[in-house]
This record gives sequence, structure tokens and C-alpha cells, in this order.
Amino acid sequence: MNTLFMHCRPGFEGEVCSEIAEHAARLDVSGYAKAKPASACVEFICHSPEGPQRLMRELRFAELIFPRQWARGRFVELPETDRISVLLATLADYPVFGSLWLEIVDTNDGKELSTFCRKFEVPLRKALIKAGRLLDDPALPRLLLTFKTGREVFVGVAEADNQAMWPMGIPRLKFPREAPSRSTLKLEEAWHHFIPREEWDARLHSDMTGVDLGAAPGGWTYQLVRRGMLVTAIDNGPMAESLMDTGLVKHLMTDGFTYKPKPTVDWMVCDIVEKPARNAALLETWLGEGLCREAVVNLKLPMKQRYAEVRRLLDRIAEGFKARGIKVAIGCKQLYHNREEVTCHLRRLDTKKP
Ligand code: SAM
Repeated sequence: MNTLFMHCRPGFEGEVCSEIAEHAARLDVSGYAKAKPASACVEFICHSPEGPQRLMRELRFAELIFPRQWARGRFVELPETDRISVLLATLADYPVFGSLWLEIVDTNDGKELSTFCRKFEVPLRKALIKAGRLLDDPALPRLLLTFKTGREVFVGVAEADNQAMWPMGIPRLKFPREAPSRSTLKLEEAWHHFIPREEWDARLHSDMTGVDLGAAPGGWTYQLVRRGMLVTAIDNGPMAESLMDTGLVKHLMTDGFTYKPKPTVDWMVCDIVEKPARNAALLETWLGEGLCREAVVNLKLPMKQRYAEVRRLLDRIAEGFKARGIKVAIGCKQLYHNREEVTCHLRRLDTKKP
């Protein structure tokens, strides 16, 4: 069990390699990362069998930027028939599991295996339960089987409270028909990722106010309005009539980089496609000056050195807050609905009201 296996968006394997290698070096876990281009997955091979477990113990999955899912384990070759017996034999040196997910990688070849996985899951689940390997207990680790082909599977384990929220890290969010743009799912996914579900009522409620920078046509504003907030939407472009009709939205045609709210607001969200350093500076101003308490902002990724550049920006933002003597929690993730971008979430921890 010397491998940490990670899923990612195809084309971002290099970023996952850089990110995990940096953490491993910091934690003194020796090993190397390897990935094929556009394979949507990365392996970090540790020199010691305890390495993957240490990485998973020391790191919080939700805090990693580019991996979509992870598990420690090993690859197993499966026969054409009776795959279940081989899997049961393999699992002898794994813990007892509390749940099971069958996964594929996010490539066209991977997607072709989804029917196979659906059909295979039922008999496998029954066999695991019968053999006492799978109990119905969400506190126990999860068995994650990632099929590369029908004959090759990564048999992985991950703690249920330290892994992706959805199989393969791909959320199942329904596009709301009334929303004016598909981008609406980005903000909804960000909330799922950054805000525990049980805190939504306290942190996203109808006594709150928000500002949406680069709002048109209103996919993100729609999400704020759906939570009952009063929203100031900043954009020279037109907002959807349906949103303006709610009476909860004020539309200002002005520059999102110079606008400052009076009075201050609870939430700021920003989906302006700009140089990432400019959006990062916006975050520093809004949180630093207490213009809002929480923010979700997209950062467009640079062409090269994407991980290094994001890390540099996040470090710079953190240093800015430190210099101001304020406490801000900073999260960053390449969400499923992000393409060449990542989404940052920031929250002031040292104020009740801005
Ligand atoms: N979040 C929106 C949604 O869900 O419908 C989509 C936003 S779109 C990706 C980016 C928007 O930013 C565009 O409507 C554009 O007009 C706006 N924009 C670009 N530069 C801006 C600026 N300096 N100030 C305000 N808005 C800006």
C-alpha cells in the first residue's frame, strides 16, 4: 500500500504532482509523483508503505487545491471472470469498510466504464457484506475502487471525513431552470465545498446583504437571492429581468474594481475574468478593510506554473492579512465547474459584524 492515488481534471496532472510533492517534502514523506498527460489521475509513490497514510493523516483533503479525490492503496489486475474473488482476496489486508464507491477517471475512456461499474456494484456490494468486509457504518473508512479498465483497478481506502464529498469529486447539482446562466452552479458548488451544510442557515440567510462583482446576467446573484439576500449587482452588462423582478437586486453599472459598499455587507462574490493578481488584490481590500465578512472569488489560472502561481498569490494574500493583524480563513479549490480557474473562499474570523 505505498501509493496515494488522486483524481483531477484532465490536463491538471502536473499541478497535482507539484502540489502533493510540495506537501510530501514539507512533511518529510519521501516518494515521487507520476502521471500521464490528460489521464485525469496522479500517483504519488512513497518509498515507505506508511507514507500514504501519513500524508492522509497530516493533510485535510478539502484544503488541497487540484486533487478531486484521493485514496491510498495499490493497483490490482483482475481476471475476465470472477473479479469478486480476486478483490476479496486483495482486501484481506485492508480494514473493514463502512461504505463503498466505484469510481472511474474523468476521461472519455474512463466514462466508457461507467455502465460496467453500475452493473458490477450490486454483486460486489453483496459479496463484501456477506464476507463481513463492508458494514453500514459511515464512521468507518470508505472503500474506493477506481477502474482504469475492466481488468485494472486501484483498490483504495480513505477516511470518510477526509475525502471528496462526491464520488470522483464530481458534484451532482441540478441546474435550476430559473437561473440566468450555467455559472450559477459554480457558486453553489463553492458553497457546498467551503461551508458545512449545517452552517448554511447561519451563514447564508435572508437578513444578509451581498455584492456580486461582474454579475451579469446573474447566475451568482441568483444564488444569493435564492438565500433571500439583498444584492447589489455590479456590471455594465444587463441583468436577467427575472432577478430584477424579485425586488431584491440593485443593479449598478460601474467598475467592480473601484466600487465600495456603504454600509459594508456580509458577502462579496466576484466572477470577473481578470488577471489573477488583480482579483487577489480585490480580496485583500474587501476582507482587509472589512467591506464584507465572507467572499467567493474566481481566480483565472495563468498559462504556466499554475500551481506555483496560485500558491504564491494565496501566500501573498495571507501575508497581507497578517500585516494588518486580522484573522482570515482562506480556502482555494479547483471545483468541478471550474475550467482554467480556481475558486477562493475567504472568511473573517475576528469580527461578528463587518
Ligand atoms: N457570474 C456571472 C453569472 O453567473 O451570470 C457571469 C459573470 S461573467 C463570467 C463576467 C462578467 O464580468 C461579465 O458580465 C463582464 O461584463 C463583467 N466585468 C468585466 N470587467 C468588469 C469590471 N471591471 N467591473 C464589473 N464587471 C466587469
